[in-house]
Amino acid sequence: MSEPRSSDAADVIVVGAGPAGSSAACHLAAAGLDVLLVEKTSFPREKVCGDGLTPRAVRALTGMGLRVRRQDGWLLNKGLRIIGGGGRIEVDWPELSVFPGYGAVRTRLDFDQMLARHAQRAGARLVENVTVTGPRLDERTGRITGVTARETGQPAGEPGRTLGARLVVAADGNSSRLSVSMGLRKRDDRPLGVAVRTYYTSP
Ligand SMILES: Cc1cc2nc3c(=O)[nH]c(=O)nc-3n(C[C@H](O)[C@H](O)[C@H](O)COP(=O)(O)OP(=O)(O)OC[C@H]3O[C@@H](n4cnc5c(N)ncnc54)[C@H](O)[C@@H]3O)c2cc1C
Repeated sequence: MSEPRSSDAADVIVVGAGPAGSSAACHLAAAGLDVLLVEKTSFPREKVCGDGLTPRAVRALTGMGLRVRRQDGWLLNKGLRIIGGGGRIEVDWPELSVFPGYGAVRTRLDFDQMLARHAQRAGARLVENVTVTGPRLDERTGRITGVTARETGQPAGEPGRTLGARLVVAADGNSSRLSVSMGLRKRDDRPLGVAVRTYYTSP
């Protein structure tokens, strides 16, 4: 009989169950690793995004065994229409043997939950409503050996939990506080974009 799995230890801790974290957790669990996927919110939850997936992203999803078809609730598209600065450009996705010839759209409210549940089906242990508060470090080497965490909304003064793992994946989003706390810095030589999002009904 196999050992019962500890709720506070795993081979890999993935921090953040957005598309990056859930995909990483799915692949790692499918490869046979014990994965804790820690998410500070609970699903379904909204995320500001344009909700558009390129053919490359569609391939990443089908590579994980997800079906990206109309009957599964996806909107499919054949290219991009860009309107701005007085101009309008329409570009079809290229026909390539390595990628499908279509992109897809699905709200993040739905998409992120679907991907997180898919990671669970692959064997990852999803923990919702738990916020990672910092890295746990090996005193001798300074290497990350886990994270500190607390229930989301729990007062800062109260004792939290420590989760241990051989490997920690920081998938906690654009500002990735966990990466910053490990000394990684944003690259200032990369462009920064600003966007707004709204939903409307189009004819
Ligand atoms: C207006 C706008 C439009 C966009 N449009 C598109 C588009 O059309 N197509 C496209 O591909 N991309 C688009 N993007 C970019 C896209 O949203 C990001 O690239 C994507 O969300 C990054 O995914 P991620 O998994 O790395 O991070 P996130 O989606 O940010 O997920 C991070 C997760 O980590 C969790 N988390 C954070 N901190 C902690 C913590 N301390 N403990 C536990 N959990 C934590 C968060 O709750 C979240 O669930 C858009 C972005 C914006 C702002």
